Amino acid sequence: MPRRASPLGIGLRLRLMLTLTAVAMFPIAFVSYVIVRDEVRNVTRSIDFEVHEAALSAQARFTRLLDRRELHALAAASSPRLQAAIHGHATTSLEQFARRNDLLLEVDGHTYGQRLDHAVKAPVQLVSGGKAIGSVVAQVPLDDATRRQLSAGDAKDVRLAFVRAGAAPAKDGRGVTLPLAGGTSVRAFLPGGVVSHRRNAAYVRVVEAGLLALAGLMLFTLVLARPLLRAFRWTEEQASEARIDALTGLANRRALEEILAAEISRAHRFAHQLAVVLLDLDRFKEINDSFGHAAGDVMLRAVSRLLISLARQGDTVVRWGGEEFVVVLPETDLAGAQRFAERLRRTIEAQQVGDMRTSASCGVATMLPDDTVEALLGAADQALYQAKSNGRNRTESAVRGPRPAAA
Ligand code: GH3
Ligand code: MG
Ligand code: MG
Repeated sequence: MPRRASPLGIGLRLRLMLTLTAVAMFPIAFVSYVIVRDEVRNVTRSIDFEVHEAALSAQARFTRLLDRRELHALAAASSPRLQAAIHGHATTSLEQFARRNDLLLEVDGHTYGQRLDHAVKAPVQLVSGGKAIGSVVAQVPLDDATRRQLSAGDAKDVRLAFVRAGAAPAKDGRGVTLPLAGGTSVRAFLPGGVVSHRRNAAYVRVVEAGLLALAGLMLFTLVLARPLLRAFRWTEEQASEARIDALTGLANRRALEEILAAEISRAHRFAHQLAVVLLDLDRFKEINDSFGHAAGDVMLRAVSRLLISLARQGDTVVRWGGEEFVVVLPETDLAGAQRFAERLRRTIEAQQVGDMRTSASCGVATMLPDDTVEALLGAADQALYQAKSNGRNRTESAVRGPRPAAA
């Protein structure tokens, strides 16, 4: 009867989903790590580019500003009003002239106008009557107003700071320092808070992408779980059906070959003994003929159960084919195997299944060093043939290889 595929429980689907998710976590985490590393590198590069641009344009604007002030000072130095005031020693006029023109006048050791402490100064020689008598000094104050002028139009996050001659630039954030004039420099920088905010945004972007990938995988698994698990189960069933005898549920001939090969190499490795019993029901054809094939099947199943119940843990019971069975007995010597075979034979003989009775002939063989599956089973088959020839319902053992002299 064909077996219906059982519906997949939600638990199984969840387990599959969690397993796949756990497995996929590692590659996704690794890829995310690589992307985060590159993203942070890109963010840092773009910050460096931004502050460098801002510093360069601040530098250029400052140079233009200073040039204008210098030209203004030059024009002032040769103005007739200033020359007249110098000739007339009119100190009040000199002071007024200096203040109105935003200049510093140094004439004959006296200073007129307002001297700015934090400013870049550009002196122009003051000549009167063909004689150098002092200087007209243009001043560019290093204050907030100048700073605003220098940063006009730049990226909003970038800040400017003047660095006095000899002072070390501040360490806050990420920035670049370029020289202006007279030892003074300008530093363009992005404050630490903005830098970490931009880096965090890069992390968040990548983590979001990673989580999205994981969520997609989970959904994909949930949808595909049914066909996937069905395919797994079908493959598994195919594999086990190929090794299990359908009538009795015992291992079949194909499975025996694998099991026995493994047992032989294990026994060989650990220098243990290994025995096999080959069992064939006597005149089984007559059971079929008398009771019908179905009844014969019942008997075969009953014998299978009996063999299973008599075998020890670690023994393997196999339906070799038809009404023949093999029992593999690891760590068992010849005497032990013979006792086991006799117990099987007597129990089968004593068992009644409905109106049916049967008996069995057994061939016993033990493993030789460097034995093969075929040689060992061949020896047991030889012994079974002997048992049949000697009248059936009996146990015979294979005489194999050189035997110890004293029995
Ligand atoms: P012997 O004592 O020489 O072994 O005689 P036998 O009749 O048991 O031997 P033989 O090999 O001539 O016949 C085996 C019989 O087992 C023939 C076949 O119909 C029967 N048989 C094989 N497989 C099955 C099965 O799956 N079900 C049933 N009911 N009978 C089977
Ligand atoms: Mg047979
Ligand atoms: Mg038989």
